[in-house]
Amino acid sequence: MNRKKSNKWSNSRINAFLTCAKLYKFKYIEKGNKEEFVSISIIVGSVFHSILELMYKDFYLKGILPLNEIKESFEFEWNKKLDLESKRNKEIVYYEDIDDPEVYKKYAWDCINRYYEKFYITGVETSFESCKTEEIVEPEITDLDGNIIKFRGFIDRYDLKDDVLTIIDYKTSRQAPNNIYLEKTFKQLYLYALGMKKQERFKDVKSINVKLIYPFPGKIINKLVTEDDLKDAENHYIDSISLIKNEKKFFQTPNYNCKSCGFRKICPEFSSIYKLKESPDDLDIKDAANLADQLVVLKKRAKDIDKEIEEIKKKFIDNKRFFLKDDEEGRYVIPGAETDSEVVVNIEKVPKVPDSQDSMRQIMIDELKEKGFWEEIATLNAISVNPKLKKKAYSKELMNILDMYCYDEEESSRVTLRKAKKIDTKKGHKKVKD
Ligand code: SF4
Repeated sequence: MNRKKSNKWSNSRINAFLTCAKLYKFKYIEKGNKEEFVSISIIVGSVFHSILELMYKDFYLKGILPLNEIKESFEFEWNKKLDLESKRNKEIVYYEDIDDPEVYKKYAWDCINRYYEKFYITGVETSFESCKTEEIVEPEITDLDGNIIKFRGFIDRYDLKDDVLTIIDYKTSRQAPNNIYLEKTFKQLYLYALGMKKQERFKDVKSINVKLIYPFPGKIINKLVTEDDLKDAENHYIDSISLIKNEKKFFQTPNYNCKSCGFRKICPEFSSIYKLKESPDDLDIKDAANLADQLVVLKKRAKDIDKEIEEIKKKFIDNKRFFLKDDEEGRYVIPGAETDSEVVVNIEKVPKVPDSQDSMRQIMIDELKEKGFWEEIATLNAISVNPKLKKKAYSKELMNILDMYCYDEEESSRVTLRKAKKIDTKKGHKKVKD
């Protein structure tokens, strides 16, 4: 079935936004953006759906179709879909480890064959009174301001039996989702249920079922639709559309679908890669790429230098025994040999604030916030907190909370650099000038 674009809302349109706002903008707001890539899994799904449509389309007239007829149609559909994408100049994106189309063709056929064996000829998925495939449904939801939101969707198949309407969706993924994702997957079918429920021709329907069929693992997930499900779905779509309407920036959100996103070439996250490939001699592009490399090298160098700095600081602290007695707290200064700077080492003992690895830290922060002390402490950075903690310079109430969470005193050391203090020796004695 040819699914024409419509201005109405749809589940896939909303999902596009929830996946990546930039993708949504490229596809649904800006005009004329061409999708240049298509995932092989879309082709697998599309061929599977076409064949399933064939299996059920004239079911009353033809009954169960023979497997060889289905196989012939499958071969035809597979080639037709690949040709179509090639005519549209779309590049097919494969999974990283397998780029042989024959592997995916076999997978698509396995899905059909498994469905045929397990659900079609056994009667599991043909025991209805009537059925229809690729049905267009146009649900409407009224938002809180009384505006009617119009949707349009395509139902893979619906069955009617004993006053029960079953809305069916086929999924060609390798596995069925677990419970967390299941409700998300059902949401689209609840939306369709909202649309079908209001139709005159279904007025005698007593209950609605939704059903997900995963032919590859051979799994069917069935669920009776409740009023709560329908209400939740309404709220989900109203909230999502409100998010979309209020969105101003449409920033990209890189995600696992980027690899096959049709708009990769124009997406700011990846467009430079393609520009560089297409115009390797363009100086502006080259310069930018060289600058990126320079930054990488400098960042790495900065990291190495930071490491060296930490090692030197540690040596100053390890030399404490030359300046302070064993357990003594205090400060010592080491002048540079050739620079006019000096190193100041502070050693003190302070109660240890729970660090970021400590689960108590967040509990402490929550309590500080709840009791209104977060403003007073402002940060849990040791450099600013330790001196105040030592001098008990915080308010009594705040100190009480900190005392509850901080551990016993631990040695804390700080190494800083300062300009060397000048020594005046003119009058035969040393005088330190600030
Ligand atoms: S490539 Fe990724 S980040 Fe860019 S628009 Fe597509 S989905 Fe969004």
